Amino acid sequence: MKRRSVHIGRRSSGSLQYRMEVNMFKLGQGGRFSAAIMNTGSGSLQPKVSSRSWMTRYGIRRYFRPDWAAKCPRCRQMINRVYRLHPFAMPKRYGRGLWLTTDCRCTLEEQKALRERLQKVIAKPEPGLPLPPALKRHKFDNFIVESFNRQAYTVCLKFATNFAKNIDGKGLIICGKAGRGKTHLACAVLSKLKDDYSTGFAHIPSFLEQLRQGEANIKQLIAVDLLVLDDLGSERESDWVLEKLLVIVDGRLNEFKPTIYTTNFNLDELELRVGSRLASRILYNSMDLVVQGPDWREVKYRQGAL
Ligand SMILES: [Zn+2]
Repeated sequence: MKRRSVHIGRRSSGSLQYRMEVNMFKLGQGGRFSAAIMNTGSGSLQPKVSSRSWMTRYGIRRYFRPDWAAKCPRCRQMINRVYRLHPFAMPKRYGRGLWLTTDCRCTLEEQKALRERLQKVIAKPEPGLPLPPALKRHKFDNFIVESFNRQAYTVCLKFATNFAKNIDGKGLIICGKAGRGKTHLACAVLSKLKDDYSTGFAHIPSFLEQLRQGEANIKQLIAVDLLVLDDLGSERESDWVLEKLLVIVDGRLNEFKPTIYTTNFNLDELELRVGSRLASRILYNSMDLVVQGPDWREVKYRQGAL
């Protein structure tokens, strides 16, 4: 191994003269240091070293000093001290660089866990809109899967499972006659994701009524990570209604945030009900599903469950 000595510091005061040697240091580990210790004036360095020119270029020095050699009491990994030059000129009293200690495995793991925890906190910007209590019990577990709705169930479950990978904001549109479990499926997706993401649920006719009376906030609907717009197309259509819906739909599309729509109409009828401007935006960015089958409410009524 070729050795090379490098002089750091000026020879102005006698005791400041010290030799430093350069050792190999992987840049990939750079930046992961804790505990900065200022100690540039020590004259007792007795380093053993090798050199690499690119390290010199990046101002990185590394030393092993036997009297500093320490092992982490937990993971028994060696903790080294590293001298690192300041990346830019600093006033003289700060010296030419810093002593830093390298992190051992357990410290790195701790920091990684902390970063992940923080990421989760940051990723939850707003609490979102709570699900109406009556809809909270709608989960995937209690959805009755039959041959006619198996596809819709599978697609919704897959949508919820892969939500983190959904970066282009593609949503779902669940069509089918009233009481076929559309809202159940949409709420099941919300329930599955509500702990990790901000979610919102809005029954469109009720929401528009609240908006008319100044009790609702459109911005909140745009801000949530996943929104369910229930009962699309059943509201009384007017320019005001379409304009408000366009603001929500466009706002979410611009931020690549997925939306799940449920509607009692098929796609052709929907275009007539909400107008082609809105329909094209919704259909272009959604996957359509059709839930066929018996009317759940009717069945439950006959069974005396409701
Ligand atoms: Zn350790």
